[in-house]
Amino acid sequence: MARGKLVAGNWKMHGVAADLGEVNAISMAAETARIDVALCLPATLIERAVRAARGFAIGGQDVHQADKGAHTGCVSAAMLLDAGARLTIVGHSERREAQGESDADVKAKAEAALSAGLDVILCIGESDAVREAGHAVDTVCGQIDASLPESIADPARFSVAYEPIWAIGTGKVPSTDDIAEMHAALRGRLIHKFGEAGKLVRILYGGSVKASNAVEFFAVPDVDGALVGGASLNAADFVPIVEAASAQAS
Ligand code: PEP
Repeated sequence: MARGKLVAGNWKMHGVAADLGEVNAISMAAETARIDVALCLPATLIERAVRAARGFAIGGQDVHQADKGAHTGCVSAAMLLDAGARLTIVGHSERREAQGESDADVKAKAEAALSAGLDVILCIGESDAVREAGHAVDTVCGQIDASLPESIADPARFSVAYEPIWAIGTGKVPSTDDIAEMHAALRGRLIHKFGEAGKLVRILYGGSVKASNAVEFFAVPDVDGALVGGASLNAADFVPIVEAASAQAS
């Protein structure tokens, strides 16, 4: 079984009702694309976006590991599903940094989301200082080892996103050789943890992906799609990335 590509957008803290037209416009491309497409939106928009989205999945950007309880401001997996979400991001570097989320937290979130029935995109990535010091691969492999759920029932429902922190929103990108080296190392860790199923987990690249560089990234071995921030906010920027992945789908 081959890994189909996934292009997922992350709107972060952007988007109100007036932006739902972009979801509609993305639907037109997603319906004919030969890949999986998703948009991870602010929780406040999920339910309305689900009604507007055709041919692709709407997701959340984070989930709490508990089913329910005294966790002010947090959203559970059951709540995301209730709003119509089909997936969630966990472990984005902005949450690891600003909310102090540890690898153990990210693992617990991934396990809670998967067991509730959400697909998961689990993010990992190194800082500029770590890359400069020559420790990028070791550090990111350590992160994935400590963040992966104990088991995955269906590898098609679980993706890893390699997102070098220094590339997020900066316009700076790693070389394709560096991406290939990292994705090969991550594939090794996935196989070590999950055996044959590890070959079927998608590894996305994220960090300043745009229409102008997407074709090059999607041609790298073990790059199974992209997690896209800024360029997912409007259809004019996002659709060409979807089309680039779709054109390379076998
Ligand atoms: C992200 O935040 O996940 C991301 C990849 O952002 P950008 O595409 O804007 O670099």
